[in-house]
Amino acid sequence: MLSSRFLSPLPLLLIALLLSACEPPAPDPTVRLAGSTMGTSYDLKLVPTPGQTVAADFKTRVEAMLAGINRQMSTYDPNSELSRFNRNPSTDWIAVSPELLQVVAEGLRTSELSNGAFDITVGPLVNLWGFGPEPRREQVPTDEAIVQTRERVGYWRLQAREQPPALKKERADLYVDLSALAKGYGVDQLAALVETTGIMNYLVSIGGEIRARGHNGQGQPWTIAIEKPVPGQRAVERLIRFGDRSVSTSGDYRNFFEQNGQRYSHVINPRTGRPVLQTLASVTVISDRSMVADATATALMVAGPEQGFQLASEHHLAAFFMLIKPDGFQERYTPEFEPYLAPEQP
Ligand code: FAD
Repeated sequence: MLSSRFLSPLPLLLIALLLSACEPPAPDPTVRLAGSTMGTSYDLKLVPTPGQTVAADFKTRVEAMLAGINRQMSTYDPNSELSRFNRNPSTDWIAVSPELLQVVAEGLRTSELSNGAFDITVGPLVNLWGFGPEPRREQVPTDEAIVQTRERVGYWRLQAREQPPALKKERADLYVDLSALAKGYGVDQLAALVETTGIMNYLVSIGGEIRARGHNGQGQPWTIAIEKPVPGQRAVERLIRFGDRSVSTSGDYRNFFEQNGQRYSHVINPRTGRPVLQTLASVTVISDRSMVADATATALMVAGPEQGFQLASEHHLAAFFMLIKPDGFQERYTPEFEPYLAPEQP
């Protein structure tokens, strides 16, 4: 039995790369702050202009903000606002913070946009397959358990209200899982926090969710790599250049277990109640907001190579698909993604 749960600074597909300059480099002003959050790592690369400084207590402010998001949105913390909502048996409106409402509302929007491929209530299935907060089981559940658990899943059973902020479940045992978009939300909040300091050239990430603005320490556009989707390897498939955008990749090759030669990943198809079939190795999405890129990449990964690509095309999304073929991988991307691809090296 083989398993993989890779929790490095950028655990999915994206590695931040600094472009090497052709001329002798000027001193690089980049300030780097890094640490742990949300079961993975955060990383900030801040490029102050002359005269700007990063305050000594900035890292403390970053970590306080991330701790606050965890207290609101983590299903890994039994005392978080989300865990308390999930345990609450009431089917009346339950008051929640505006921040939790905002992320849940985005999750519902993506659930609708993807016709339920993405489902913000999929958590019980994620947990059944052993990819949630409980210790990993690495065992395929019984068909009966899958059918029973699937009955609890359905984003249409959850309503969100803005004024005053509240959520309402149709079933007492509905369970909301924000793991597919709250890291992205955290990245958007980190970017906003950086901008309060006046620094407008930065790259911030949590796990594989990345948001960048301006240029890197050598005055070049931020460049990141889409990794080759091979477990245990870190090789570059394609370089993408982007500024003022967010990038997210969803894949099935870092967080999975294998049983009888079959790979079972943490991305679940809510319709079947099972991990997605191995037709796609990864999907990378570029968007204005990291929360949107994060959720959309998972949605397209579940929707699959055909429906997912159609969805991306219809909605003019910048999306890059890595399809699994008998002889390797095949790239497919929407016209909106093309401008971000760096020219291939000869
Ligand atoms: P993504 O592709 O971005 O998301 C995949 C995840 O989304 C799955 O793991 C599942 O939870 C969910 N999902 C699966 N299928 C669907 C679907 N069809 N629709 C919608 N969602 C789906 N991990 C820890 O080990 N310890 C922690 O303390 C911890 N704390 C966290 C706190 C927060 C606030 C968040 C957001 C996550 C936390 N995690 C923690 C989770 C960990 O970081 C996850 O592995 C991660 O969020 C999954 O992201 P990804 O980028 O690997 O995959």
